[in-house]
Amino acid sequence: MEKLEMQAKILGSKIKLKSLQQWICDSCGGVIEKPEDGWFEWYTEGDEFIASGYRIVHHDQRCMYNEHSLFHQGKSVSDGHLDDFVGPDGLVYLTRMLELDNLKDKSELIEMIRRLHVPYYEEARQYWAQAEEDGFFDGSNEVWPYLPSTCLRLIGEYGKRD
Ligand SMILES: [Zn+2]
Repeated sequence: MEKLEMQAKILGSKIKLKSLQQWICDSCGGVIEKPEDGWFEWYTEGDEFIASGYRIVHHDQRCMYNEHSLFHQGKSVSDGHLDDFVGPDGLVYLTRMLELDNLKDKSELIEMIRRLHVPYYEEARQYWAQAEEDGFFDGSNEVWPYLPSTCLRLIGEYGKRD
C-alpha cells in the first residue's frame, strides 16, 4: 500500500470527503457528492475580459451564479461541468487558463487547481485558518503546507471522528 493511502487509512472516519471526487460547494456549503454534480464557474468583466470569481458549486440554479444579476454589474459568466476540470485533461485546461494574461489574481485560479487536483487539499483547507492561528505551518517552506501528506496531517489534527 502506498504511504499516503496508509496514512489515510489510519485517519479513518476523520476523513469526510472522497479525495478528488467530492468538494464543498462555495455557495451553499454542502457536499458535492460526485464530479458530475458539480459546476465550475467564474466571470469576466471589462473590455479586457478580466477573469475572477472562480467557484466550485453544485450544478443547480440555487448555487450557481445568477447570470442576470451579474450581467447588471457588467460581469459575464463563464462556466462548465466540473468533471471537465478534473483528471489529467482537466489539469491541462486549468493550466492553460493560468497561462492567459486575463486573470485578476492568479492565486485565485491556483487555489482552484489545488482543490481539484491535490489529494486531500479540499478537506484540509477547511482547517487552514485554525492551523495558521495555531502555528501549524510555522517554519515550513512554501510547498510543504500543500503536500497531500501535510493535508492528511492537518485532517488528523483537526478532523473529528464520527
Ligand atoms: Zn451548493
